Amino acid sequence: MVAEYVASNGAAGIRCVASGLNRMDIPSDHFDTVENIAAMEAAKSAIFAQQADHAVAYEDSLSAARKKRNLREKNPGWGASKEVALAMRISPKGGTHFMNSSRMMGADLPLTRQGLRDGKVTWAQAQIVISGTRNLELANRQLVDRLLWEETHNCFEQGTAKLADIVAYWAKILEPKTEEDLEAKAWKNRCIGGYQINAHEVMISGTLPLSLGIAVLQVLAGEAEKAQREPGEERSAGQIQADAFYELMTGLKVAGGVPLEILLVMDAAVLTGESNEPVLIPGYGFISANRARKMVAAGPDDELAIWVRGLFVESRTGQLVAMESRARRFGGNLKKLIKVRDQYCRTPYCNGKIRDIDHVVQVRKNGKTTEDNSSGRCFSCNQTKEAPDWDEHPTPGDRHSFNITTPSNHTYISKAPPLPGMKTMLPSGRTLGEHPPGGAPPGG
Ligand SMILES: [Zn+2]
Repeated sequence: MVAEYVASNGAAGIRCVASGLNRMDIPSDHFDTVENIAAMEAAKSAIFAQQADHAVAYEDSLSAARKKRNLREKNPGWGASKEVALAMRISPKGGTHFMNSSRMMGADLPLTRQGLRDGKVTWAQAQIVISGTRNLELANRQLVDRLLWEETHNCFEQGTAKLADIVAYWAKILEPKTEEDLEAKAWKNRCIGGYQINAHEVMISGTLPLSLGIAVLQVLAGEAEKAQREPGEERSAGQIQADAFYELMTGLKVAGGVPLEILLVMDAAVLTGESNEPVLIPGYGFISANRARKMVAAGPDDELAIWVRGLFVESRTGQLVAMESRARRFGGNLKKLIKVRDQYCRTPYCNGKIRDIDHVVQVRKNGKTTEDNSSGRCFSCNQTKEAPDWDEHPTPGDRHSFNITTPSNHTYISKAPPLPGMKTMLPSGRTLGEHPPGGAPPGG
């Protein structure tokens, strides 16, 4: 009955099932409680299987429709996985991964897919099978799919680490040459990145192909060994290596001054101590008001020479000062302002760093080079918005906002994140960053 109801009511039917689940009481019997947990896990697996099938079917159907219209013949499914991401509330990158995984599972791993549908395999397990067989030839991928079910060691009742080992074991037996492919992949995937982990530290990490990585580690170890032979050296090996890394990268001495400009975005009241609202360093995250005051107070002879570039002032609306430009490209202060305003790629759920500042309504559609008609995007999302029938338009909002309408005719709102200096009322009636009534903030 439920199946017929869902089939005939579509999305409304699925939402109705979800709301029915929310109305469930937790059973008094312990056995039943745990039974419910297991049954819900089976439901989650079945839902993943359905989402996967829906995603692939949507991309196929969109591609077929575009081919009929002679649109985007090279990549007719362009943007479909990004639409799936918006619907699933995940990042565009996650959407692409989900689409690729779904397609591979549906086409090449029929038993794993059936296991997911039957609630015998979780989505996490299915992903291990998918990623472990991704580099194999089709026949071997299908063979692993069969082996997982025919072997007697109940592969799906093992932990995920063990399951990954079993898949890797068969993959290595079936195609020893994938080892070379993985080496080539390591070259392609080399990267380095960093992010602020707290108010005082930045984590820098990345991956290198084995040979390059070992060379870097050897240089750092050599620096530590050399320094520790010097009399009076008090730094630990780790500290010496960190200093060497910095000095080799920047050509500067750790003890020397850092010619640096850091942008702090904050309410002016933070400077006077009237507000303790955290302060934003665009691209890195928030630091405490106290730390920001110390950074600003640092004189020109201090270790860090800081220019405070932007003070955020419009506390009621959270809007930065608008600027206009006649140029076709976003440049100079306008670009800086948009980067501060957006912080991350403006596609909802995307965690990408801003690479392109571009028009919301394209220049060819008479879009102007203004703050209002701008959005900061990662490379991939800035491409996606050029897909056929993908439409974006600025829309009024308390902060900078624009609508995204996708080819399936769903509309999402992209709203700029809140910035420091915007008065946010807490449930207690206090305003964020203000001292609690009757004195200084706790601990300060
Ligand atoms: Zn993005």
